[in-house]
Amino acid sequence: MREFDYQRAFDVPGAVALLGADPDARFLGGGTNLVDLMKSGVERPGRLVDVRELPLDLVEPTPEGGLRIGATVTNSDLAVHPDVRRRYPALAQAVLAGASGQLRNMATVGGNLLQRTRCGYFTDLAQPCNKRLPGSGCPAVEGEHHNHAILGASAHCVATHPSDMAVALAAFDAVVSYETADGEGELALADFYLPVGDTPHRETALPPGALITGVTLPPSPVAAVSRYRKVRERASYAFAIGSLAAALDVQDGVVREVRLAFGAVASRPWRARTAERALTGRPASAEAFAAAADAELGAAEVLPHNGYKVPLLRNLVVAVLTELTEEAAR
Ligand SMILES: Cc1cc2nc3c(=O)[nH]c(=O)nc-3n(C[C@H](O)[C@H](O)[C@H](O)COP(=O)(O)OP(=O)(O)OC[C@H]3O[C@@H](n4cnc5c(N)ncnc54)[C@H](O)[C@@H]3O)c2cc1C
Ligand code: SF4
Repeated sequence: MREFDYQRAFDVPGAVALLGADPDARFLGGGTNLVDLMKSGVERPGRLVDVRELPLDLVEPTPEGGLRIGATVTNSDLAVHPDVRRRYPALAQAVLAGASGQLRNMATVGGNLLQRTRCGYFTDLAQPCNKRLPGSGCPAVEGEHHNHAILGASAHCVATHPSDMAVALAAFDAVVSYETADGEGELALADFYLPVGDTPHRETALPPGALITGVTLPPSPVAAVSRYRKVRERASYAFAIGSLAAALDVQDGVVREVRLAFGAVASRPWRARTAERALTGRPASAEAFAAAADAELGAAEVLPHNGYKVPLLRNLVVAVLTELTEEAAR
């Protein structure tokens, strides 16, 4: 591992100034992803700026009736917060579905959003990888890709984003706040992750040197009837091979509002807006749920070994929306 300088920041302007314009410096959250990547040589920062002492560790109500989540709130604290559990249950479930208790105690909200793909070629320095080394190629397209993307990918990269938390945040229209030396800024989660195109190494729309300061959830009554369902290859401590965050408002048997976001199918959380439009105003039935899923998944482009994700997501949509319909009727 390359030798690096370590500094701890105690306020937001100080953290931004310590990082400066140095392309070799990185913010350090819980370190649960960054330190692994440093050990494998994928990341070789010359300086780490530790952000864990920043005063960004609170979950607070906003005046509009939403929630503001600080960037250094740990995954564990986020998952047990009473307002999150009551008003955005799918978010608490998504966070709890990720990693292990020890990792969640360390991992932060900012770091979770920026964690890197688990594509095996990305972390294997002996292999080409367009995301790690632009222009070197993508061996996953013809190689091991059983857990790679079926939506929004390109021939340059078919990796998926691994975060569970971000999938629920996408369903609830979260907004990411950041700060740079030029001041504060905001990005809707829908615009936070960039399309893959021919630049898979450019993953977010954050400006260079930006410190994520928090995430805001707008008020959302539909979010109170929500669920996160994750499918993985073993019962715990594994990344998703497909997941769904869903929220549903049904009145008199008709879908008034629905939120759907898919995980582990694209380079970013995939908000299923085509399916949402197809369902709104329709009877809440298994047939309508399946038709809406098919409308979204019609855009899927599968590789030889990841086509199973299409029926997997379709079944998730039908099962979870059926459960939420029954829950709303109680
Ligand atoms: C064995 C294992 C299993 C896991 N399973 C899952 C899983 O099932 N689901 C899941 O979602 N996740 C899983 N994870 C990933 C884990 O959730 C992430 O590693 C974690 O959320 C990253 O948070 P962190 O604070 O440790 O980030 P770090 O590792 O500290 O940082 C990650 C990146 O974010 C940047 N960063 C950190 N904070 C900020 C900030 N405030 N502003 C700007 N940049 C910042 C860092 O510079 C770095 O580039 C797993 C991890 C491991 C090791
Ligand atoms: S899928 Fe993306 S991350 Fe994986 S090898 Fe291809 S370019 Fe690299």
